[in-house]
Amino acid sequence: MFESSIKLGTIMGIHVRLSRSWILVFGVTALLMSEYVRMEFPAWNPFQRYLWGLAASLLFFFSVLLHELGHSLAARFFGIRAQSITLHPFGGIAKLAREALTPVEEFWIALSGPGVNLLFGGLLAVLGLLTATTYKGVSFLMHEVSTINFVFGAFNLLPGFPLDGGRTFRALIWWLTKDYRKATQYAAVSGQILAALFMMFGIFFVFEKQGLGFIWFVMGLYLLSAARTGYEQAELRELLRTITVNDLGWEELPQVSKTLSLLEFLAQFDFGMRDRSFLVMDGQVIVGVVSLQEARLAHEQNQLTGEPIPTLADLMTPIERFERISPQTDLGSVVEKMEYSEVSLLPVVANNEFQGFVGREAITNIVRQRFGHET
Ligand SMILES: [Zn+2]
Repeated sequence: MFESSIKLGTIMGIHVRLSRSWILVFGVTALLMSEYVRMEFPAWNPFQRYLWGLAASLLFFFSVLLHELGHSLAARFFGIRAQSITLHPFGGIAKLAREALTPVEEFWIALSGPGVNLLFGGLLAVLGLLTATTYKGVSFLMHEVSTINFVFGAFNLLPGFPLDGGRTFRALIWWLTKDYRKATQYAAVSGQILAALFMMFGIFFVFEKQGLGFIWFVMGLYLLSAARTGYEQAELRELLRTITVNDLGWEELPQVSKTLSLLEFLAQFDFGMRDRSFLVMDGQVIVGVVSLQEARLAHEQNQLTGEPIPTLADLMTPIERFERISPQTDLGSVVEKMEYSEVSLLPVVANNEFQGFVGREAITNIVRQRFGHET
């Protein structure tokens, strides 16, 4: 996860990341835009055009960031922490600590993303008008990015789950029926209808020899699969809420000393078996967790850099970094906490005493056993 994205900075306590493929798309967008502006200002020199293309691409990227910030800040308003925003070529993902637990939360969090785009689009439109006679290049830039924001905002407001509009729609039904599963079912159907419409338009346009028909069709396909996965995830999440950590049980992890070096650790435990986690001990005290996979990766890197060989104390994830769960915690929350802190196991604590660990694999297994589902 971390390898494929680059950290850009932090805005209001939220880490902003870029996926690597985004950089390529950013460059292509800037080039396309600098070509596009030639039609409006044929007299411009290449430098002016590239500058304009770069500015347009940057503003477009900023619009996507604003969209995700809208979701994140609305979530924060309801006490849901937002950890990071990652920008991908075709949109962004805001990583929230948990999903909405009430229809009111879901409604406002979903609406805030596209809402911000509509507001930003309005602001740019006004700036475009104000500069219309004085700075024609700037005015054109404002106008184009404003249009993009309106289109982006409106598209996301289409009432098909899992688009933001579909989530807003789900929140409304959830609020009316007080039934999350039913609301998700309706929203998923709305998503499928929307997908079917997109595909029908696509086919129609292709027969009419309109080049964009293909794009409509592909978008329809994408929406269809997103509606299905979105529904399955929501259903799974509900199923997981009915099982507690206590039902699942927990496991003990083998213990290793923190003074063990990376090489000693691998020599003792790495027999080419699948990944496994270990408790790192300082005498009788648990100080961290280390996995075989982490150790293997660190070893590879260490061979490349030739730095001094680390000990497990250097490699481990400190125990304080793991969110604790109790035997009463439901597995839906456990999965959310794992995703949020990017770990694959969590410590179970009862009466201030450490009991053991729950791993992602155990959850996958119980889901498969009980519901025949794949996670
Ligand atoms: Zn959104």
